[in-house]
Amino acid sequence: PVGRLPLIAGNWKLNLDHLQAIAFVQKLAWSLKDASHSYSDVEVAIFPPFTDLRSVQTLVSADKLELAYGAQDVSAHDSGAYTGEISGAFLAKLDCAYVIIGHSERRTLHNETDEVVATKVSAALKHGLVPVLCVGETAEDLEKFGPSAVPVAQLKAALAGVPATANIVVAYEPVWAIGSGKAATPEQAEAVCAALRAELNTTLGADAAAATRILYGGSVKAANIASFMREPNVDGALVGGASLDLDEFSAIVRYKK
Ligand code: PEP
Repeated sequence: PVGRLPLIAGNWKLNLDHLQAIAFVQKLAWSLKDASHSYSDVEVAIFPPFTDLRSVQTLVSADKLELAYGAQDVSAHDSGAYTGEISGAFLAKLDCAYVIIGHSERRTLHNETDEVVATKVSAALKHGLVPVLCVGETAEDLEKFGPSAVPVAQLKAALAGVPATANIVVAYEPVWAIGSGKAATPEQAEAVCAALRAELNTTLGADAAAATRILYGGSVKAANIASFMREPNVDGALVGGASLDLDEFSAIVRYKK
């Protein structure tokens, strides 16, 4: 889509310690540098565990890698008595460009409500981080409310307090497609991504709707990435399991429409 640089984002979840991350990033950079596979029309971002970020920063800056990175979560708070939390200020100091917010695993396993997600989005923006805001319906939601009602409502709630000029990324991740091997069809993904863009248009205006990248996530693999990227409202992918397989992730990055 015109003006929206496709983004392929790898969410490592709770995998790869900082030593494994160093080896992985070095191999990934090598693989992506291969001159016979140009990927200049795609932005690549990885989301390692917090404890890996300092090592990733060192590698990316020392070797001037064209690789963005970010964290998988951020605290709603800047500092204080919040044991175990990591603030946006700390992430910004490590040159993180992005932060994933509202992943379904955080919503479900850590009881993150729409309100918490909205606060975290504001906290990320305050520190110059681009939120990768995850929305998506469960199989039960899909049956009860249809395909787009829940993701659109989650987006609307998360945008409370977001200025129209803010740089954000939205990731549509149907919960039933995450880690299940059962991806949405490209048509299903396109329909919800189009509804999300319409919501961006209503809430933030036409410019924001045209400029904001909307990713699809849920069992994306090398074999299906191109079919999603052909859809006009899908601007990239958030990749979980397949982002840990070097060959698979490299092939996803080098998708051809
Ligand atoms: C995810 O958890 O963000 C995800 C998309 O996982 P997977 O690719 O493994 O379905």
